[in-house]
Amino acid sequence: AGVLALGIGLAGCAGDRTGGNAGGGEEEAGGIIGVAMPTQQSERWIADGNNVKAQLEELGYQVDLQYANDDIPTQVSQIENMISSGANALIIASIDGTTLTDVLQQAADADIPVIAYDRLINGTPNVDYYTTFDNYKVGVQQATSLLTGLGVLDASGADTGAAGPFNVELFAGSPDDNNATFFWQGAIDTLQPYLDKGTLVVPSGQTEFGQAAILRWLPETAQERMENILTVIGSTKLQGVLSPYDGLSIGIISALTSGGYSVSDLPVVTGQDAEVGSIKSIIAGEQYSTIFKDTRELAKQAVTMVDDIRKGQTPEVNDEETYDNGEKVVPSYLLESTIVTKDNYKEILIDSGYYTEADLG
Ligand code: BGC
Repeated sequence: AGVLALGIGLAGCAGDRTGGNAGGGEEEAGGIIGVAMPTQQSERWIADGNNVKAQLEELGYQVDLQYANDDIPTQVSQIENMISSGANALIIASIDGTTLTDVLQQAADADIPVIAYDRLINGTPNVDYYTTFDNYKVGVQQATSLLTGLGVLDASGADTGAAGPFNVELFAGSPDDNNATFFWQGAIDTLQPYLDKGTLVVPSGQTEFGQAAILRWLPETAQERMENILTVIGSTKLQGVLSPYDGLSIGIISALTSGGYSVSDLPVVTGQDAEVGSIKSIIAGEQYSTIFKDTRELAKQAVTMVDDIRKGQTPEVNDEETYDNGEKVVPSYLLESTIVTKDNYKEILIDSGYYTEADLG
C-alpha cells in the first residue's frame, strides 16, 4: 500500500509541475492566483470564491483565496500579502472600490495583472480587466419585477393600464460599491414614468439614492430603515418595496412582519442573488422576486481571463465603454442575469443544477 501511495503521490506531483500537459505542447499551467473576496456573510460570495478556486485548480493553478469580513484594511493587507508571497495574478471583488489604489500600484510594480471581479475598482489605472453582470440591466429587471408583481406590467412586459396608486418604498445598495448606482439607475429609469404619472407613490418621500442607500449592504440597516419608514408613514399601507439584494429583502420583510403585515398582505419585495433564504421566502409567498446571477459563469469568465493573460493571449471582452473607473475605461465582459419568481425558480435554479430540491427544502 505504501508503494502504491508513493506512486500516486509522484504522479500527482508530476501532473502539477507540468500543468497536466498530457497532450504535449500545451502551455504550462502556471502559478499562484490571489483571489480576494469581500465577505462570507452572504452566500453568493462563498459560491463565487468556491467556484473561482475550483476552476483555477482544475487548470493547474494554486489559489490563495481570502475573505475580508467586509473590512477594508483587512482586504488591503490580504492583497499586500498575496503580492509579497508571489502571486502571478489577482482576482479582486472589492469592498470599497476606491480604496485599493496604493496596493494596486504595488501589484503593477511587480507586473501582476489584476481582474476586477463583479465590482469595478475605481480610481486606478492598474486594473486590467473587469467581469461582471450587466449591472444597469439588473436594476431594470428589479424594477420590472416590482411592476409585474404590482400588476402594472403583465407577464409579457406590456403595460396593463393599472392606475394605482401603489405605495412603494425604495432601497439602494452600498454607496461605496460601484454596482449600487448602476442597479439604482436601471431601476429608477424604469420606475420614473410611473412615479411621474402617479401610478407609483413613495409615501416617505425618500426618493434620492443617498436616502435609500444601505452602507455595506447590511440587512440589519435595511431592517432599521424600513422600521423607521413604517413609523413615519403611520397607517399608510405599502404595496411594494424595491430592494436591490436578498439580504436587505430579508431585513425589510422582517420589519414589515413585525410592523403588522401578514404573509398575505406583504408588499411586493424584490431582491438579488437568488440566495437560499430568499428562494425559500419566495416559495413561502413572502419575497416576490430575486435576480439570479450565475456565479459559476462569472467565475468561469474571470478564470478564463487569468488563464488567457498567463498564456500571453488577449482575453475576450464584450463591453469597452460602460465601466470608466475615473482613470480608464476598463475592458469588460458582461454576463446576463435572470428574474426569478415562484413561477420559474425550479426551471432556473434547480434544472440548471445551481441548487438541489434539498437545498431549498
Ligand atoms: C453584487 C450583488 C450583491 C451585492 C451585495 C454587489 O456588488 O453585484 O450581486 O447583491 O454586491 O453583496
